[in-house]
Amino acid sequence: MRRAIYPGSFDPVTNGHLDIIERARKLFDEVIVAVAHNDAKAPLFTLEERLDLLRSTMGKIDNVRVDHFSGLLVEFARTNDAIAVIRGLRAISDFEFEFQMALMNRKLEAQVETIFLMPKEEYTYLSSRIVKEIARLGGDVSKFVPPPVAKALAAKIK
Ligand code: ADP
Repeated sequence: MRRAIYPGSFDPVTNGHLDIIERARKLFDEVIVAVAHNDAKAPLFTLEERLDLLRSTMGKIDNVRVDHFSGLLVEFARTNDAIAVIRGLRAISDFEFEFQMALMNRKLEAQVETIFLMPKEEYTYLSSRIVKEIARLGGDVSKFVPPPVAKALAAKIK
């Protein structure tokens, strides 16, 4: 069983995340989409809401599971017998931070490989942060996020 973890804040999940999940699930037997508890980041959506949005968006996909974790990612990977961590790379601006994380995670756990996947070009400018910003300013986010997320954003930002 070749299992990968796709970790992130998913605050909220966007079409960019879904693109990466689709790519990852073709490469691995199972992908665990792992939502990080990150109160320090002051997320707009609670952990429960972020999990619900992922689950309602994806429905039942054979080899994708949604879970959450706190603490060290490599520890979560080890507990779940995962051989890889998936990260999405959008632009050079993602690179420095991702490079540092990947090498640090390798120091902490040499058995877990970080794999970078690039989304479809049209998603390279997309981030949860910018989607929240557009929603706050009253813009239409329906092209960037799945329907349940657009609805949840409208309800949250009134
Ligand atoms: P984090 O707080 O870990 O950055 P995010 O939810 O913002 O959490 O992102 C999780 C992962 O998904 C990261 O690897 C990020 O680079 C990637 N990602 C986010 N948005 C996109 C996108 N539009 N296209 C490709 N990858 C993305």
